[in-house]
Amino acid sequence: MKKIIFFSNNEHKVLEIKKLFNKTNINIVGLEKFPKINIPKESGLTFKENAKIKSDYFFKKFDKPCFADDSGICISALDNLPGVRSKRFIKINGGYKKTFKKIIEKTNIASNYKAYFHTCIALTLSLEKTIFFEGRVYGKISKIPRGKHGFHYDPIFIPNGFNKTFAEMSAIEKNNISHRSVAANKLKKYLLRFYK
Ligand code: IMP
Repeated sequence: MKKIIFFSNNEHKVLEIKKLFNKTNINIVGLEKFPKINIPKESGLTFKENAKIKSDYFFKKFDKPCFADDSGICISALDNLPGVRSKRFIKINGGYKKTFKKIIEKTNIASNYKAYFHTCIALTLSLEKTIFFEGRVYGKISKIPRGKHGFHYDPIFIPNGFNKTFAEMSAIEKNNISHRSVAANKLKKYLLRFYK
């Protein structure tokens, strides 16, 4: 069994990835097994840079293969922001309600509702070898927040081909099409070839 570290404290994400690797010879281990580890500052300007900062950090410390992810929402009417600053954007704007209001106003003014979620997974196998897996889901910003599932921007994002927001979907439905699952499936394909 090959052990690979997923540099994430997010139980939900770790569980999802573990499920994806069920019945394979790869054992995914989250940061719960490394409670004392520091989290490096995500100072990159891109999803790729931030994911690499985390996966390289772990590799340098423990000399073990590791992957990390970084995601966010990019909104056309906001010049593709908040992007890597998605989490901070909610805080800066004073919470979800105000953030959604601001985004919906901006998209209405621009008559441009286009948006996408992006995930980049960085896999560090050696200091010379970091491989990237990208995932995107395209869609639009809804006119009002809808739904109770999911987290953060889910109530205002309607993926293309659907009439409901991510927050109106079940976890299974969202995971079938999400940016994270697109990137994670590419990672799985690669790892299964690498460690067969
Ligand atoms: P992370 O890098 O996956 O932790 O994502 C950073 C931030 O992007 C999150 O804190 C959210 O604000 C936003 N984000 C990423 N993925 C999603 C999603 O699937 N739904 C809603 N918001 C998301």
